[in-house]
Amino acid sequence: MRNERAGRVSATQDSAESERGGAGRVSGGGGGGRAKPETRLGMVRRARKINRALAEVYYYAHPELDFRDSFELLIATVLSAQTTDLRVNQTTPRLFAAYPTPEDMANADPAELERIIRPTGFFRSKARALLGISVALRDRFDGQVPGRLEDLVSLPGVGRKTAHVVLGNAFGRPGITVDTHFQRLARRFGWTEQKDPDKIEAEVGEIFPKKEWTMLSHRVIFHGRRICHSRKPACGACPIAHLCPSFGEGETDPERAKKLLKYEMGGFPGQRLDPPADYPGKPAPPLDAA
Ligand code: SF4
Repeated sequence: MRNERAGRVSATQDSAESERGGAGRVSGGGGGGRAKPETRLGMVRRARKINRALAEVYYYAHPELDFRDSFELLIATVLSAQTTDLRVNQTTPRLFAAYPTPEDMANADPAELERIIRPTGFFRSKARALLGISVALRDRFDGQVPGRLEDLVSLPGVGRKTAHVVLGNAFGRPGITVDTHFQRLARRFGWTEQKDPDKIEAEVGEIFPKKEWTMLSHRVIFHGRRICHSRKPACGACPIAHLCPSFGEGETDPERAKKLLKYEMGGFPGQRLDPPADYPGKPAPPLDAA
């Protein structure tokens, strides 16, 4: 299944070589001496092509945190600061077995809570955040996670990024998740030059219809984690290279680039212990097996 889809994208890639003059760059990327600057319309069309191509490559894109309800997703997202989703997924089974509801977590012994979440790092401040959120959910929201942005960001330690993850994936309300991968890729794709996450969110939101926002975020983040890495993007193995003005920022040799691929793209386990049924890779190992 994955190969078939990857094949379709490669065919598109060949036919679109002319978009980058066969030299690895689209006209808007500043790579070709005589290429005209890309118009706004051209950029929007190219951005939407990138989204469609990523949708084929990552047809299984999903949130990479394991969760069963909005409370678990909120808590897991808060824990994911400064660590990997994998480490959070390896920690939360024990956490939610001990404290399945906001009421249970609000009454937790802080030292015990810290001990359980220690593998995620910054466990003292994260324990304080978890207690603060749980108390607020219990006292102000009837023990339920609210489904409105303004309520979510009123919870201690919850910013727009966390709120959008929860709204998009637990409430089906579209949102753009501007994490570090999304910031980097949006700039590499030429969708924005902004550095501030709120400004990036606003500018990218102008390019895509609202109904695309949540899945667009997953696809871009999947691509950032697997292929378009921060230090060594695997340009030579990138299925959207023909649409990217930053082609050449990383390794362009196809064989060497292939060795840089991560998770299922490189034949390794993913981040979720309990991935969705269509995930083509292997599940992540539990903490004690890691
Ligand atoms: S890996 Fe290279 S070609 Fe692909 S999106 Fe990233 S910078 Fe562009």
